[in-house]
Amino acid sequence: MIDCSAVRTALGAHVLGALDPGERARVEEHLAECRACAAELAVLAPLPGLLAKVTERDVEQAAVQPPAHLLDRLLAEVARERRRQRARLGVVAAAAAAAVAAAVAAFAGLAPREARTPPVAITSPAPVTPAPVPTRPPTPAPSGAPAPVVSAGAADGRVAASVEMRPRANGTDLVVRLRGVPRGTRCSLVAVSRDDGREYTSSWFVDYYGPARYTGMTSFPRDQIKAFEIVTADGRTLLRIPA
Ligand SMILES: [Zn+2]
Repeated sequence: MIDCSAVRTALGAHVLGALDPGERARVEEHLAECRACAAELAVLAPLPGLLAKVTERDVEQAAVQPPAHLLDRLLAEVARERRRQRARLGVVAAAAAAAVAAAVAAFAGLAPREARTPPVAITSPAPVTPAPVPTRPPTPAPSGAPAPVVSAGAADGRVAASVEMRPRANGTDLVVRLRGVPRGTRCSLVAVSRDDGREYTSSWFVDYYGPARYTGMTSFPRDQIKAFEIVTADGRTLLRIPA
């Protein structure tokens, strides 16, 4: 059995998809039964989505100077995101630092899977080691072909979603269209890779019933994505979308 403090410590790694399958199963089992930890996850879940807003220029600057400004910006966005929730700045800062470190490593030309740091024992904001000057892989030229879209509906006929996948230099940009989710639900989009890796790509708060559009990003290349899952903050899977 795993306790709350161990789960809190692992949550940052969990949202970044850095836990191994055994750890992930134990954390998810706990999250399904512990509202407090599930609420904490809801606070951290936006981080990978926020990372999608970090530009390559930000990362290049972060590689040559302390990324304080970057962290400040991420933290400000997280703060806005959870205006009414209680602050646990240490955990958020640690997760943000780990996220920025992962982004710096990813942009430094490492393969995305290697770039995912395993910061399981996050206790304080880790300093980001200056990375070598990034040698960027070429951005795929726009081909003009429509981006592939996958979609699915839940058995009850209410929840339905589609995900559009646009290849990018370090993964895949995602556009999610979702309908039928009850108002007030906090959802995340999880990308599942062919070897069963999982990444929280974005998280959002459903504020109306009709169709809504959200964007996210995964480090998985398009051809490595096996499926997407729409999951709630308390760990329920609303929908699985084969890709
Ligand atoms: Zn707990």
